[in-house]
Amino acid sequence: MKKLENKVAVITGGNSGIGLSTALLFAEQGAKVVITGRNEQTLKSAAETIGHDAEGIVSDVTDLVSIASAYQQIGDKFGKIDVLVVNAGIAIGAPLADVTEKLFDQISDTNFKGVFFSVKLALPYLNEGASVILTSSATNEKGFPGYAAYAATKAAVRSLARGFSTDLMERNIRVNVLSPGAIDTPIWGRGGSSAEEISGTKDYMATIIPAKRLGTGDEIAEGFLYLASDASRYMFGSELVMDGGVKTL
Ligand code: NDP
Repeated sequence: MKKLENKVAVITGGNSGIGLSTALLFAEQGAKVVITGRNEQTLKSAAETIGHDAEGIVSDVTDLVSIASAYQQIGDKFGKIDVLVVNAGIAIGAPLADVTEKLFDQISDTNFKGVFFSVKLALPYLNEGASVILTSSATNEKGFPGYAAYAATKAAVRSLARGFSTDLMERNIRVNVLSPGAIDTPIWGRGGSSAEEISGTKDYMATIIPAKRLGTGDEIAEGFLYLASDASRYMFGSELVMDGGVKTL
């Protein structure tokens, strides 16, 4: 029996990295998958890769009109949403002295405000019994040079999972949060570093992670599947940490 048979699953940032791995797994498990992101071309090719009639909808989580329009399209076409994975995010680091207001706002608007409104605006479309999963980070209570603003947004996301959970329990909607550690996805190349610098950073990360390697998008997708499925039905406002032991060891 497939774990998400006949479920409608929406994954923000589903055209790359962890979101794409999750979309692939959810579709294999019988879900009708809708992915969102800003880039129309990569959404199209990701939807083709996912198959199973997956659909891509252009939506920018920093733009409330754009988020609302995506949900409206999803609602019109599929009715209610059973699983919402709020995964879109950016991780741009910079030395503290170089962090501009513009960069701060970009990180905050995407990773904090974007998450808040990706849930708030979904409310009319969420099915009773739906599972909402937010994406935090193992950095949410650690210091990591250059990533203070990023880590703070991810701590806020963990807090949102608890707050939303209490707000939505009366509708039997579960809200949980997954905190990945260092995962090998395209996010590492989005800060403008050279290929050599990126590979150097990843090699260094592997030395400080207790598991001695970065995780994969497929491994994180398994965590999202658990939180999306009925197997996690007694979890409300919980954090699932998948980080190769960084937080605990
Ligand atoms: P990727 O860069 O591969 O994917 C990020 C996704 O977010 C893309 O699909 C991108 O699509 C989308 N996105 C970014 N900004 C916006 C926006 N304004 N509106 C809509 N979509 C947006 O990164 P990962 O897969 O690695 O990251 C996924 C999540 O996991 C993020 O929240 C990240 O913070 C978190 N995470 C990642 C870790 C890692 O080591 N990889 C560690 C801990 C947490 P598009 O460009 O088309 O908009």
